[in-house]
Amino acid sequence: MPFEELDLTAFAVCLACGQLQGSAPREQRCHCQPRTPDWEQQWQGQDIAGDLDLCVLCVRDTVTTRTRWSWLGCDTCRHVSQVVGERYGHRAALPLGRHSLMNGGVIQPPKATATEVAGSLMAATGRWNALRDWQQVEFDRLAEPQRAAGPSVPLAEWQRQCPPSLGASVDAFDRFGVVPVPADLTSLRQAQTRFRSSAH
Ligand SMILES: [Zn+2]
Ligand SMILES: [Zn+2]
Repeated sequence: MPFEELDLTAFAVCLACGQLQGSAPREQRCHCQPRTPDWEQQWQGQDIAGDLDLCVLCVRDTVTTRTRWSWLGCDTCRHVSQVVGERYGHRAALPLGRHSLMNGGVIQPPKATATEVAGSLMAATGRWNALRDWQQVEFDRLAEPQRAAGPSVPLAEWQRQCPPSLGASVDAFDRFGVVPVPADLTSLRQAQTRFRSSAH
């Protein structure tokens, strides 16, 4: 089934684990729900047992997840990562690809002289884990005010409370804190200013 035919109104955000659940005809389950053989059967032939996830950086917009080649970051966050990465002479600032081959040319911390390749792979893995940790912390921050409503909220309600935007992506990128968004990248800086002034 093409992604364009996914019924987004059928998805809900689990406020406990931050994963998406629901959907039809195949049922996507969050980490809190049982993974039975019958359920796994539905996802045979696909790398990932799910269609959709929340973005690893802004945790607002969605990403499609079917294959090991899927992106962890939404279009807007990938745009920010690319624009900042290119400014520093790299292809991207953050490893937002699920597969390590998608993350070639991302900004690395200063490398040791010996075993440079192993070191940079380790650094990439560390950065990737750091993104997963970030996602959990950022999710908890955004989910906290919504938890009184129940164990989950419809995806549409999640995005009404936490709208995806360029400003939100820049804000998340800045707070994740690998490298600063250069002050002269005005297209991103203005988005951030707008975001901060409209947030309160
Ligand atoms: Zn859950
Ligand atoms: Zn995002």
